[in-house]
Amino acid sequence: MNNRSFDSECKTDQLFPESIIRDNIKRLVPYSTARDESSISFGTYMDANENPYNTGYNRYPDPHHKRLKQELALKMGTIDQDMIFAGNGSDEAIDLVIRVFCTPGVDNVVSISPTYGMYKVAASINDVEYREVPLRNNFALDPEAILKATDEKSKIIFLCSPNNPTGNLLEKSSVIRVIENFKGIVVIDEAYCDFSSEEGFVPLLKVYNNVVVLQTMSKSMGMAALRVGFAFGDSRVISYMNRVKYPYNLNRASQEAAIRRIREGSRSLGIIISERERVSRRLNESPEVIRVYESETNFLLARFKNASGMYKFLTANGVIVRDRSRTPGCEGCLRITIGKPSENDRLLSLISGYGKDKFILPPNPFIEISRITAETAITLKADFTGGGLSLINTGIGFLDHMLNQITTHGGLSLELDAYGDTQVDFHHTTEDVAIVLGEALNRYFKSVVNNRRYGFSLPMDESQASVLIDLGGRAGFKWDVVFSGEKIGDFPCEMLSHFFSSLSTSGKFTLHIKAEGENDHHKAEAVFKAFARSLSMALETDLSEKFPSSKGVI
Ligand SMILES: *Cc1c(COP(=O)(O)O)cnc(C)c1O
Repeated sequence: MNNRSFDSECKTDQLFPESIIRDNIKRLVPYSTARDESSISFGTYMDANENPYNTGYNRYPDPHHKRLKQELALKMGTIDQDMIFAGNGSDEAIDLVIRVFCTPGVDNVVSISPTYGMYKVAASINDVEYREVPLRNNFALDPEAILKATDEKSKIIFLCSPNNPTGNLLEKSSVIRVIENFKGIVVIDEAYCDFSSEEGFVPLLKVYNNVVVLQTMSKSMGMAALRVGFAFGDSRVISYMNRVKYPYNLNRASQEAAIRRIREGSRSLGIIISERERVSRRLNESPEVIRVYESETNFLLARFKNASGMYKFLTANGVIVRDRSRTPGCEGCLRITIGKPSENDRLLSLISGYGKDKFILPPNPFIEISRITAETAITLKADFTGGGLSLINTGIGFLDHMLNQITTHGGLSLELDAYGDTQVDFHHTTEDVAIVLGEALNRYFKSVVNNRRYGFSLPMDESQASVLIDLGGRAGFKWDVVFSGEKIGDFPCEMLSHFFSSLSTSGKFTLHIKAEGENDHHKAEAVFKAFARSLSMALETDLSEKFPSSKGVI
């Protein structure tokens, strides 16, 4: 979030827009939640028909987002809590501003083009006319043209800075010219401000009260799935937005996670910005690229010689970018979101191979599988760059623990969710997890051209395990492990050989496994660790020999 300080200019009431708030909204008696009507903050709650038994979520969440706003106000330093609206993404704020100020079928809003698509969609849903004013050739704002497009029925001007999809900041003096000469609300969407080098528009809130600034936790803070966005503005505007929103628009999990995240801050910002600059330079050197636009965001807009051909080629190879080539002003352009360094490398090396006959594709390190049968439902996302966070939940604690050995020692990360009939026994879930994981391994190792094929490992734990792997494409399985008990915790030991034999069958590779030791748990753990090590050995390649380097090519 942008927390740079205000100028010390004084605020004027001249532009206060209360007169343009819809009459029905002014008259609206908002829904009052049960707890609003009582001043007791802690008691025996028998007012809201909730279930009294604690599930973590049995009580309704705070409709006023008090702690969240407190945290954000603290972080920003210059914004009072009553100037903050918290919504289900900033998309909710876009819709609410329209609903508070625009009478359907009568009023209109004005925006720039090209820009973020939701302003138009939200206006259309509300039956509000949407007027677009093209940016200038260099994507600069044309304040006179914007003002000329307004009339007495224009209630809102939507601006976006840094703008999506063009990536540039709007000139501050031009924006101020619009604000000072418009009698309605000017919304400035700053979804990308954290990636920018400039201070942004929050300081203007101190000076103008017809300004609403939007920010979001979806981009720089890495919280898109939470759906938390903010609007900052005059407390009267914010209070109207709060009256119109659903009472419980932000669920408890999102509020809590947002609070934690604001406290922590985003650590990935620096690397994303430096990757943006690196990818931009490399793209600029590519013969396929006509131009890369300057960006103050986490994406790059690039004009290609053959945008649709490039788009199809990238998609066919598992890299999805946004095709903006048919957007007026962005002809021939693709919008590319900056990824992790390894993802950016994959993109760059694909672009360097575009149109070349002898190009060997780099392996796709991201594999997704979902498999649903009568007994289990499993989704798996594997990232063989190892850069991701592993989240494994099979419903069997011991199996999770063992799979974590594979990710920790095997150089890959896994997001794996399995819902199985574990109340019956662990058989189906264990077997099906092995089948899905085997398939993912098989898909990956087939794409690693000239992998080493063989792997061998013998870790030096107090339990010893040796695992031989041959990725030759044929399943084969030998198991030489004897457990002293029948179970480890509640996990039957025989399931371990079954896991690896299913893995080998589904992955079409040969496994020879041996282990010795005193403790069954340690023995099992040594087997998983050893498997992970041999796997990563077998998958190794010398990249410089196998793939044409993209260095010096693009
Ligand atoms: C992504 C984006 C948003 C959406 O934000 P949410 O908080 O996820 O709803 C808003 N504005 C712009 C310009 C965006 O690019």
